[in-house]
Amino acid sequence: MTAELIDGKAFAASLRDKVAILAATFESKAMRKAGLAVVLVGDDPASHVYVRSKGQQTVAAGMASFEHRLSHTASEDELLALIDKLNQDRFVDGILVQLPLPDHMDEQKVIAAINPDKDVDGFHVINAGRLAVGLPGFVPCTPLGCVMLLKDRLGSLAGLDAVVIGRSNIVGKPMAQLLIAESCTVTVAHSRTKNLPDVVRRADIVVAAVGRAEMVKGDWIKPGATVIDVGINRLPPEPGADKGRLVGDVDFTGASAVAGAITPVPGGVGPMTIAVLLRNALVAAYRNEGLKLPADAI
Ligand code: NAD
Repeated sequence: MTAELIDGKAFAASLRDKVAILAATFESKAMRKAGLAVVLVGDDPASHVYVRSKGQQTVAAGMASFEHRLSHTASEDELLALIDKLNQDRFVDGILVQLPLPDHMDEQKVIAAINPDKDVDGFHVINAGRLAVGLPGFVPCTPLGCVMLLKDRLGSLAGLDAVVIGRSNIVGKPMAQLLIAESCTVTVAHSRTKNLPDVVRRADIVVAAVGRAEMVKGDWIKPGATVIDVGINRLPPEPGADKGRLVGDVDFTGASAVAGAITPVPGGVGPMTIAVLLRNALVAAYRNEGLKLPADAI
């Protein structure tokens, strides 16, 4: 293996430490804790695990965590009424509605109901628009975490060729916007892209956000490129095991023989998502109280 490992777990831990210090400063100035509300509808087991982890990490960072659980039979109106209440609550700085929602709810309508200044997930169209035109707003946590890892490793990204594989609203599109803002030359590849291996081969930076286990092969990678693997895929279990291994969208063994640096799965991008969520919630708190965060603090 030649590639350096990009340790997202360690980076996320140091980001959480910075958030905790600034959360304590916030509390001393605002005379209250910064608050993050998480709304979970239904009983998707993966969402329950994720929400519990968010709550624990929020409290560990010295912020207040408000958890709201609605049954899978709750109506869309009930959810919208709860969001309205959280929008008005001055102790709630950030609101996150855990996706996916049950089928009888319209995700876009629900996201649109969140006050954009409390939309710490950055999914509201106002925040997508702010990102597109370069105004301050909230940026989706996973792609923002990827850019933090890239800048930590590479410094300035200006002029680099970046290929983002995937064009979802949650990862691919905001990732492309962030890389444009960093002055990369950006190509967005997707399921209809022709000659994907050739497209990827010209990239100094590859961001894979597809959801297909080990799709990106080592011989697609330009020697020395930096590879950010967003994918989280569970392989079928080996005989005798009850769970399969977690792998990314990149063939780690093949790519790490060629790349300059690469994120592992797990332990790369994954831990960044909640750390950036805490960061966004703290930024929301400072803004909501009209307090100034030190420049580039987090
Ligand atoms: P998505 O299903 O919404 O989007 C996948 C994208 O991949 C689509 O834009 C599609 O065009 C593209 N695609 C599909 N097949 C392709 C192919 N053969 N070639 C090229 N492109 C193809 O998924 P998403 O929500 O963007 O998530 C992508 C992956 O990232 C998933 O594995 C997901 O689990 C993971 N993810 C991880 C985190 C994290 O915290 N690390 C957060 C969000 C998503």
